[in-house]
Amino acid sequence: MSERQAWTVGDSVELYRVEGWGQPYFGIDPETGHVTVRPDPRQDRRLDLHALVNDLTARGLALPLLIRFSDILRDRIREMNECFARAIDEYGYENRYQGVYPVKVNQQKHIVDEIADYGRAWAFGLEAGSKPELLIALAASSDPSGLIICNGYKDDAYIETALIAQRFDKTIIVVLERIEELEMVMVASRKLGIKPILGVRAKLMTKGVGRWAPSAGQRAKFGLTAAEVVEVVDRLSAVDMLDSLVLLHFHIGSQISSILPIKSALREASHLFVELSRMGCPMHYLDVGGGLAVDYDGSKSSAYSSRNYDVQEYAYDVVQTIRESCDKAGVAHPTIVSESGRALVAHQSVLVFEVVGTSEFPLDAEVERVASDAHEVLLQAQEALDSVGQPDTSLQESFHDVEQAHSEGQTLFKLGYLDLRNRALLERIYWACCGRILRAMHDRDHEPEELADLAEKVAAIYYCNFSIFQSAPDAWAIDQLFPIIPLQRHDEEPTVRATLADLTCDSDGAIDTFIDADGPKKVLEVHRLRPGEPYYMGVFLGGAYQEILGDMHNLFGDTNAVHVELVRHNYHVAHVVKGDSVSKVLKYVQYVPAEMVERVRQQAERALRAGRISLDNVRLLMRHYESSLHQYTYLGAHETSDD
Ligand SMILES: *Cc1c(COP(=O)(O)O)cnc(C)c1O
Repeated sequence: MSERQAWTVGDSVELYRVEGWGQPYFGIDPETGHVTVRPDPRQDRRLDLHALVNDLTARGLALPLLIRFSDILRDRIREMNECFARAIDEYGYENRYQGVYPVKVNQQKHIVDEIADYGRAWAFGLEAGSKPELLIALAASSDPSGLIICNGYKDDAYIETALIAQRFDKTIIVVLERIEELEMVMVASRKLGIKPILGVRAKLMTKGVGRWAPSAGQRAKFGLTAAEVVEVVDRLSAVDMLDSLVLLHFHIGSQISSILPIKSALREASHLFVELSRMGCPMHYLDVGGGLAVDYDGSKSSAYSSRNYDVQEYAYDVVQTIRESCDKAGVAHPTIVSESGRALVAHQSVLVFEVVGTSEFPLDAEVERVASDAHEVLLQAQEALDSVGQPDTSLQESFHDVEQAHSEGQTLFKLGYLDLRNRALLERIYWACCGRILRAMHDRDHEPEELADLAEKVAAIYYCNFSIFQSAPDAWAIDQLFPIIPLQRHDEEPTVRATLADLTCDSDGAIDTFIDADGPKKVLEVHRLRPGEPYYMGVFLGGAYQEILGDMHNLFGDTNAVHVELVRHNYHVAHVVKGDSVSKVLKYVQYVPAEMVERVRQQAERALRAGRISLDNVRLLMRHYESSLHQYTYLGAHETSDD
């Protein structure tokens, strides 16, 4: 028997790195072994996430379910603003911070509304990257002191709308992303008789790191080169409109995991800012864009799914760098604008789904002993199995022997020298041998390098009621890592190593990379399912980008979503956003559900007339067909809304 100590919740916290990515919001209760949420870190109130899911499903909200914690969102906004306030205070910076939320990161109405609402205390504004997002920003922002920053490609309607809205009681700044937009703005301005409030987006030479590095540099998709910035200044000056240019913007990409390129970009942008001031532009705002990263793997490193700085350090660096450049040049300190999206909304939502089945190799099964007159290849396999853990044989040797027997057996089968029953027996011995080797490595707490991928080879598959394409598209598209952990049983050792497969008929519809201490791991430790007991898993930190990038592969639609808010002594479900019904996703692809029902009915009638099916079966078929149209697209017969 192993001499290991009994498993504790502390072991789970360490295994799943919960302190790294979860602080200060997520943890595990030492008593119950359930994942807990502390939506407002200033209070010591924790919600039992497992119990919450049970409560919500009891109200008829089927899984997969996206739970948004409004208090977490509020706390993120508070943290961002307080970190900048602290930096401004400590560095004696002579202006203020005014952040904006880039709507593209999560456009869901309730989220944008909550941000506008919670942000009012700090005059927090919104950033639009397209015409539809401008429409959202104009409608959602009710705060006269908040900024609206207009980025993205613009057409005449976008520009004219933004210019007219500049006459509202809020500050709306049109940022020139391409040199052509200057002419468009001038034309609109003359037509409307409105003098524009403008910014320029600069293409910096400093590159970010990681996936979004191409967002900066000479070949960046957006922004003006130095030559174009000067051209803007000259052309504005020629028509006596230099006082329109008030903002400099840059954005070097998302999830910038290292602070170094951030500092370097800040230095470059600060110089540009100073130069523009010197050229006579009344520069009031320096907009440092997004890019503030989220520590998805909890390693606090410059790995692409992490970051080697925190929000406070970021704020210090932004404030300090801008101050230094301005002081040196004798230019007044600008209002600092930032457009952090990911760092604001990633933490607020948790996607919960259920494991609905498993497929495992029989690693623990007892295998009958091979008879002494059996085929040579079976005797070899038996010998390898018996050798596992023997003092004179290393685990690598045992594994090589069984691998060799296994592969020889396959060749022999192909050539007709081994029958199917014997091939099956050989396979069972092979799995049992792998199982024994894994247990021996585990007990010895030692993993020989050659056997490092053994666990991966024989990992179980846990089938889950969700679609990665809909709910975690970046995990599929760009190998983004999200912390994924069971919501319960953390006081028990998770003895199964598994990959997660979703409901789609796509072999890409799986999660097989998970966060770990030294770079990603290929299998996730999970518990063996217990009959009749739901096994919930949570995908954490997925609140940024995933919802809108999600697609309807295999026609799995939007999931149910709820907004949970803390109220005195309890929580409150503020909004329920029902997921798509089958008929709704069918309409997206131009089907007319009533017509489909009719066509199926006619075929059933014909079969009935021809005596091929019974009336009862016709009735049952039509009942299934029609009720499925009103159901949730995921497994289980749950009604949902059709519009
Ligand atoms: C996407 C984007 C952002 C948000 O970036 P995050 O990394 O999510 O903070 C900000 N500004 C612009 C111009 C963007 O395109």
